[in-house]
Amino acid sequence: MPPSETIWVFGDQLNRAIGAMATANPTTHRILLITAKDKIASRAWHPARVALYTRAIEAFAAELRDAGFQVDHQHAVSMRAAVKAHRATHSPTRITVTEPNSFTARQLVNELGCNVVRSNQFLTHPDEFATWADTRKSFKMEDFYRWQRRRLDYLMDGDEPEGGEWNYDEQNRERPPKDGHDRWPVPVDVWATTRAGALERLDFFIKRVLPMFGPHEDAMIADNWHLAHSVLSPYLNLGLLLPGEVCDRVEKEFRAGRVPINSAEGFIRQIIGWREYVWNLYWRWMPEYATLNALDAQLDLPPLFTGAAPTQMRCVSGILSDIETRGWVHHIPRLMVLSNLALVTGTNPQEFLDWMREVFIDATEWVMVPNVIGMGVHADGGKMMTKPYAAGGAYISRMSNYCKTCVYDPKLRIGASACPFTTLYWDFLDRHSETFAKNHRMSQQIFGLKRLNDLPELKVRAKEVLKGLEQGKI
Ligand SMILES: Cc1cc2nc3c(=O)[nH]c(=O)nc-3n(C[C@H](O)[C@H](O)[C@H](O)COP(=O)(O)OP(=O)(O)OC[C@H]3O[C@@H](n4cnc5c(N)ncnc54)[C@H](O)[C@@H]3O)c2cc1C
Ligand code: SF4
Repeated sequence: MPPSETIWVFGDQLNRAIGAMATANPTTHRILLITAKDKIASRAWHPARVALYTRAIEAFAAELRDAGFQVDHQHAVSMRAAVKAHRATHSPTRITVTEPNSFTARQLVNELGCNVVRSNQFLTHPDEFATWADTRKSFKMEDFYRWQRRRLDYLMDGDEPEGGEWNYDEQNRERPPKDGHDRWPVPVDVWATTRAGALERLDFFIKRVLPMFGPHEDAMIADNWHLAHSVLSPYLNLGLLLPGEVCDRVEKEFRAGRVPINSAEGFIRQIIGWREYVWNLYWRWMPEYATLNALDAQLDLPPLFTGAAPTQMRCVSGILSDIETRGWVHHIPRLMVLSNLALVTGTNPQEFLDWMREVFIDATEWVMVPNVIGMGVHADGGKMMTKPYAAGGAYISRMSNYCKTCVYDPKLRIGASACPFTTLYWDFLDRHSETFAKNHRMSQQIFGLKRLNDLPELKVRAKEVLKGLEQGKI
């Protein structure tokens, strides 16, 4: 007897432990996987991303066939067409899906009459998040994180945090080391496409990199693309790795005394804190959230982002070149260089979001939207983060070695060699000074702005910089 039921697995649920797959059986379930041409053609995706997604689906199909499943891997013009073709050929009694990870996909599976089962791909289902969020006015990540630590029992000593502190950020914001850049073990520079491959990368990270994860988390080095980051986001987002298993490994290494508390805590916070937090903000605030533009930023995306114009800004050109190579850079270039540039130039948030979604290999909608709209460019007016991550060249200079070889000077805010970040940072504060005057977390910056004695010249230079960006001369 052929299997009577179908389980439809989305391309970001590639794991036999997720939802409906956890109880799937080759005698009763056929598996439907879809590679939809309209999705691939819908944007100018980074080629590495298209390759990763399509190969990972093919590899999962092969893994399931090896395990005895009948797999219908449809290559169709659209998801809808693929489901129609599958139904016509196999007449399943029903098609079951695990709650998909985007609004559009959830709408589609409902329209197609699928049987939807609860997802366990994340550690915090939106129902669970609601038990925390419904009782408060604002959703501070730090409060959520402490709730998660207690609830999930990671790095706890009874009801108190292991080591006595919830957070070791003070130890984790070291400047980049001047030398020894080759001491960080280099991850394999080809993306894994199978669970086995992703588990190998996890193993490499845990054994070789994690002990050093903490201290230089925020540093950027021109000749080292990975530093001590895990480079695991694509695997987590595809479902090849699950957040719980990753955190369990980290906790185990800490308990065995092989990893210091600041590295273990810093990493676990990224997963049970930030990752689960943005996942849940996505479900709470979307779809309107993606359209917000609280600072009324209307500049067209500067052409340097797409490569339509060159740039002399060493930090930006270095990061764009890293993105072109592998579709990935770590958190600080995304936040403090790319998003910061979009923020201080007043670039339209939706144009910037579209670009970010296209160029990153790990850019799933649920994670990219809150990170860009809320954290990156403050387009939500402070719903997610209480203040914008705007910074001048001094920050980039302190946390990286880019400025040493740049034509601009991070200390200067006016004149032809002034760092564009520095000029635009002050111009940004001035443009929004009324809005930020009401924000006590911005009082120091606004106080600094009021003390500037060259604001008129700075405003002139800011105009030149924006024009220069448009013309590819900055
Ligand atoms: C503007 C902006 C856009 C971003 N876009 C994406 C994106 O499209 N996809 C994506 O996976 N991450 C995104 N992030 C979050 C973070 O930058 C990446 O997850 C991280 O750089 C991936 O590298 P890693 O695996 O080495 O992370 P590590 O530094 O080793 O951290 C470990 C893991 O923690 C999780 N994590 C850490 N920070 C965040 C965060 N802010 N939000 C969600 N998860 C987090 C990731 O799963 C990551 O793999 C974005 C951050 C910013 C500021
Ligand atoms: S001087 Fe300014 S533009 Fe140049 S690398 Fe430093 S921060 Fe970037």
